[in-house]
Amino acid sequence: MRPGKIVAVGWNYRSHLQETQASAPSEPIIFLKPSSALIGDGEPIVVPPGVGRVDHEVELAVIIGSDCRHASEADALSYVSQLAVANDVTARELQSAAREQGNPWSMAKGMDGFAPISEPVPLDAVEDLQDMRLSLTVNGELRQEGSTSQMIFPVARLIAHISRFMTLEAGDVIMTGTPEGVGPIVPGDEVLASIEGVGELRNPVR
Ligand code: MG
Repeated sequence: MRPGKIVAVGWNYRSHLQETQASAPSEPIIFLKPSSALIGDGEPIVVPPGVGRVDHEVELAVIIGSDCRHASEADALSYVSQLAVANDVTARELQSAAREQGNPWSMAKGMDGFAPISEPVPLDAVEDLQDMRLSLTVNGELRQEGSTSQMIFPVARLIAHISRFMTLEAGDVIMTGTPEGVGPIVPGDEVLASIEGVGELRNPVR
């Protein structure tokens, strides 16, 4: 089933803030990716010609199980049904240009195939979703490594914040931000994103 929306979180790991020269947010930075960007494990990430540098961003994806409005932080995780490994694929030069000009970066984040997501696992399959190792390799070379313990705003806080303003519906996906090490992918690459206890997401780049 295709999610109604993919809600994504910008700059949720301090280490990624440093590498992108962004300042620490006081509230979560929220943007949307269209569900048409979704692809599954094994499907190719297609880099459209002329868009410049395209980056990988390994992220924990949280899948909402029941409609959620005005959740408290204490209740927030009861609305989560599943977890998955995601890659918030980003046309970095387009995003940087949009940021500089004060324009939306929807296109930079929303192209077809820019939201690869693994097969989900039930939330109760993991012991502590705020203590999981994430990593990403390109052609077998380690590019990103971090832990969900390093999130500036943990998942419960994100859900409480988002659902104050935007109803989270069953099937919606939240991409919770990426740790340091984002970098370019080019046609011919093989990208493998992993989260301990959640699974793996493998996508060739075309
Ligand atoms: Mg991201």
